Amino acid sequence: MNYYSTRDPSKQSVSFQEAVLSGLAPDGGLYVPDSIPELSPDWQNASSLPELATRVLTPWLADELSRDALAAITTDALDFSVPLLKLDDGLAVLELFHGPTLSFKDVGARMMARLMNTFLKGRRERLTILVATSGDTGSAVADGFAGQENIRVVLLYPKSMVSEVQERQLTAPRPGVRAYAVAGDFDACQRLVKAAFVDPELRDLGLSSANSINLGRLLPQSTYYFWAALQAGVLGFEPPIFCVPSGNLGNLTAGILASRMGLEVPHFIAAHNANDFFPGYLKSVYDHGGFRNTVPTLSNAMDVGAPSNFERLYGLLGGDALREGDIWATSVSDEVTRTRLRKVYETYGYVACPHTAVGFEAAARYREATGDGAPIIVLATAHPAKFADVVEQTLGVTLPEVAALEALKGPDITAPTLAPTLDALKGELLTKA
Ligand SMILES: *Cc1c(COP(=O)(O)O)cnc(C)c1O
Repeated sequence: MNYYSTRDPSKQSVSFQEAVLSGLAPDGGLYVPDSIPELSPDWQNASSLPELATRVLTPWLADELSRDALAAITTDALDFSVPLLKLDDGLAVLELFHGPTLSFKDVGARMMARLMNTFLKGRRERLTILVATSGDTGSAVADGFAGQENIRVVLLYPKSMVSEVQERQLTAPRPGVRAYAVAGDFDACQRLVKAAFVDPELRDLGLSSANSINLGRLLPQSTYYFWAALQAGVLGFEPPIFCVPSGNLGNLTAGILASRMGLEVPHFIAAHNANDFFPGYLKSVYDHGGFRNTVPTLSNAMDVGAPSNFERLYGLLGGDALREGDIWATSVSDEVTRTRLRKVYETYGYVACPHTAVGFEAAARYREATGDGAPIIVLATAHPAKFADVVEQTLGVTLPEVAALEALKGPDITAPTLAPTLDALKGELLTKA
């Protein structure tokens, strides 16, 4: 398997190791696979999530990593449960938030950290991981990479656009990790990262990314679609539709890759908040360069006006196939998100986070718009306790305390503020260890 940049018409390819260690291609494009391997049907015999992940990733990595090395990585990284809960005969929720930082991003970040570390061993190289985060990515990456001797992590998060819990998670002291509050929105953070990657003065630092643009995060996420399907089979569900609360479209892209590997998925639902570029694109309201400015919402980990993985989806499938394909998308306002959060709680006694609530609303809209009665799995992307303010206020309940968050309460948050300019970032990267 090899990987080429979405911006390279000659499709010159690199190995998985190169793609993972560099993150973004040198021309600023995203790496996509030159072909998609078909998974042997015996994936259905996997008896645990790590074993399934090893089976899913083996055909992508076989040339570059032994099966034993891969199995060691998946066992260490995926040491938490990913349960599928049935809510009624046509609706289930896949809880992806039982990892250490309580969002689905732990899956990709923990896998990527261990893949990178394995590759870096023997190369005797030092890397700086530069991450723009709207909240959950940064803490998952910081947690996943903390203490790796040859890797330093620099996190950029949009000042005043993350919850207090998210900020505490991001700025918790960890060896080798530094967090900056950028005076701007998430897209400003993301622009800084992109500019840093192509800056010649920073080349010697060995910059890499850990955003969902990195294949090392993206590919492992395909695993839990297979894992959900295994559990859905036990529940007696027909091949389910997946409803994916989306921002940068990494999670959705991982699902599409799973279906291209042979998983039977009749449709995907892309559930967006008020940041509606992708639904607008599919409806031909926006064209493929028509990115939007970011709008702040309750589901802030999905506040993305210019989804970075759109270029990858577009590169993989092409615009026509995207618009005519299996993806149904919708955009949900904050008000309707709250209404749906209440409705899910009243109907099923289930407490969702705001992102997952956007997913539940999208699933209901899909049913109503299409009349399709196929079962739907909503991906629950974060633990409701990470967004306790919104959830408690909306539902009028007090959420039980969660140990992983209690441990963070303490002194004031002291992350330095960074101006949203490349010069300011370069100053920090080049002068601080
Ligand atoms: C990151 C995130 C999303 C969006 O995922 P993408 O892969 O960027 O589309 C949704 N929900 C939560 C809780 C997240 O942290």
